[in-house]
Amino acid sequence: MPKDVSGEFVRVKHKAYVGLGANLGDREGTIRRAVALLAATPGVEVLRVSALRETEPVGYADQPRFLNGAAALATELGPRELLDRLLAIELELGRVRGEGPRFGPRAVDLDLLLYGDEVVDEPGLTVPHPRLAERRFVLEPLHELEPALTLPDGRRVAELLSE
Ligand code: AMP
Repeated sequence: MPKDVSGEFVRVKHKAYVGLGANLGDREGTIRRAVALLAATPGVEVLRVSALRETEPVGYADQPRFLNGAAALATELGPRELLDRLLAIELELGRVRGEGPRFGPRAVDLDLLLYGDEVVDEPGLTVPHPRLAERRFVLEPLHELEPALTLPDGRRVAELLSE
């Protein structure tokens, strides 16, 4: 870890993007609460939140429509710490993990989409998020937040959207 002039350790800030989704109850209210909890997290600054859009459920169709968006963060947390915080916020807002079908209804779904240019592939954490490139409801808000955004492998979000 780098030190500043006084010899104190300083933690470097990374830009990260988090996917926001909800399809049960007060969807917008829950997403706003999730963003507020993120913003209240030490070492996390919420830079921008995209518009929220209604999307058709993917994978498991027999469920209400989703509200989806994304947030841009500056964070001193590492990718694993950030994911753990996202999972804790999901729990706090009432999602019961492991219950119901995969891709099924959930009060709130927070995904770590991108963490700087880093590629992480370890048990329980894959960044960029593995399904990012094929999901319009993820690509669109990312593009809104940062039109020039590029994935670590060099693919541009704008290009993926036009495919
Ligand atoms: P899901 O139910 O689809 O939201 O999947 C959540 C699980 O995926 C979590 O327990 C995470 O450990 C794992 N996971 C792996 N990579 C990611 C990521 N980039 N963002 C969120 N969850 C992830």
